[in-house]
Amino acid sequence: MCPTRRWESGVPELPEVETMRRGIASAVGMRIDQAVLPQGRLRPLSTTPSPGLLAKQLRGCVIEGTERYGKRIALRLSMSAGDRQKEDRWLVIEPRMTGLLLVSVPPTQEHVRLRLSGPTPAITSHELLFWDRRGLGTLRLVNAKGLEEICGEARLGPDALMISCECFRERLCGSARAVKVALLDQHAVAGIGNLYAAEMLFLAGIDPRVRCQQISRPRWKRLHEVMQAVLHEAIELEGSTLSDATYRTALNEPGRYQARHRVYARNGQPCQQCGTVVRRIVQAQRSTFFCPKCQRR
Ligand SMILES: [Zn+2]
Repeated sequence: MCPTRRWESGVPELPEVETMRRGIASAVGMRIDQAVLPQGRLRPLSTTPSPGLLAKQLRGCVIEGTERYGKRIALRLSMSAGDRQKEDRWLVIEPRMTGLLLVSVPPTQEHVRLRLSGPTPAITSHELLFWDRRGLGTLRLVNAKGLEEICGEARLGPDALMISCECFRERLCGSARAVKVALLDQHAVAGIGNLYAAEMLFLAGIDPRVRCQQISRPRWKRLHEVMQAVLHEAIELEGSTLSDATYRTALNEPGRYQARHRVYARNGQPCQQCGTVVRRIVQAQRSTFFCPKCQRR
């Protein structure tokens, strides 16, 4: 049995989605001549509006930029000059479990869900793909108001890479929830998922079961420091590709952060720091991995 397979839901998180965003930079400037949403025998993707209308509305748009909101990517689109509707729009892409953005040959052709092509300033023709094996990802074309509704402050907390130490502590410290569970709450702080929560709690030496209310101010400071250090390091190494091999960069290459994992999916193996066996427990229906010796209550 392949132990990490059952826990593939660790990614994509902030580092993987940020890697996708950076990886598709070559598509910025593309004038979308063709937008195709292949409708095969697979579970259909959730799109707003419907696939046919979405394809029609994307054609003629120019990709002006890429933005990341927590674990989502938004392509900022300007409408072509001839269009009466000149207001900017955003294509909000949520990769969820197995979605990828690619500017390269995809892992399989059958799971390509969206294919955008057209000339970019640097290249005569270019392709941007959204690929999704399980089809749990979503594509939503929205205006500024719609973007605010799905990615604004009412839905997502401050980004984990940007949040200040004081704001981070204030948003979490009053909670009676276990710190691991609270870190996954995208309303509190956006971008962290199961994998990076485990890694940052290990590095901060905090037991994942401790209630937020019980954590001292110096330990919040330490947790904030290691959170941002872990996320930056994971982005530098282009995210984590687990043993299911699903997550790939925009060039269809594996990430490299998995070699640095200290506790995630390492249950039953000795802690790299103290030799104690790493444990797995379940919190809020999700696996948590930790070292019972290095991580204190
Ligand atoms: Zn240990």
